[in-house]
Amino acid sequence: MRADIHPKYVDAEIRCACGNVIKTRSTKPVIIVGICNSCHPFYTGQQKFVDTAGRVDKFQQRMAKTQAAQAAAAVRKKRK
Ligand SMILES: [Zn+2]
Repeated sequence: MRADIHPKYVDAEIRCACGNVIKTRSTKPVIIVGICNSCHPFYTGQQKFVDTAGRVDKFQQRMAKTQAAQAAAAVRKKRK
């Protein structure tokens, strides 16, 4: 290895939002993640909302709006 060109390879902790901590080694001492193997639905087999920044909420609001508009359009069509 050439001197002074390689990053330091240190003991690292990967911390998940669920509280799980994984010890490993990396060039960064702490890595923060939003989801890991002990809380991701694929590994747990349980349905769970993994909603960042209210995207599911936004989608449901848009969906409700669309359905309301479609219902209104259907009523208007019937009247004709
Ligand atoms: Zn996790």
